[in-house]
Amino acid sequence: MFRRRGFARPLRRAFAPDIPPALQRANELMATGDYNGAAVAFEGLARGAEGRGGPRAPHLYLQAGRARLLIGQIAAGMGHIRHGLALLAARQQWPVLHRTGQLTVAFLTERGLTQKAQEISDYLKATLPPLPVSDFGSQTAPGEKPRPVLPTTCPGCGGPIRADEVEWVDEVTAECPYCGSAVRGES
Ligand SMILES: [Zn+2]
Repeated sequence: MFRRRGFARPLRRAFAPDIPPALQRANELMATGDYNGAAVAFEGLARGAEGRGGPRAPHLYLQAGRARLLIGQIAAGMGHIRHGLALLAARQQWPVLHRTGQLTVAFLTERGLTQKAQEISDYLKATLPPLPVSDFGSQTAPGEKPRPVLPTTCPGCGGPIRADEVEWVDEVTAECPYCGSAVRGES
């Protein structure tokens, strides 16, 4: 049974897509440190989503890539990460590519993979169109209320929720990048 963590009360969902049990399982494997199991699970989910042209495919490839990197399989991990970022670029999801790319650079740098981090940084510079910084989805515009605090995991699929990575639906609601559930924060 999947255990929800990080918050005490159930969060109301504005809409609840069907959550694939395989996705819940993959997130659970990742959260409990079974990175090999998580990598295999996310690879299957990512290929399935890509085959359907699903909007979650890039994020699923990125999770597969992170899992491979965490068990030291650098070439396989970087392959998934480049593919996930390229899918975002192909869909011209520039703000998401910008934010996800920056998080990926930070993830690689933290693990001492500075050359790989530089490769991704160079890729972003070469790929992202010159947009004003405000279009890259800064957390709050001047005069806007600060964003509420989000739960650390999605109440639907258990995936990790990062405030600087999610798409915000409205002032208090973000969308889970892995399953599309609405994730509501507390003001
Ligand atoms: Zn989710």
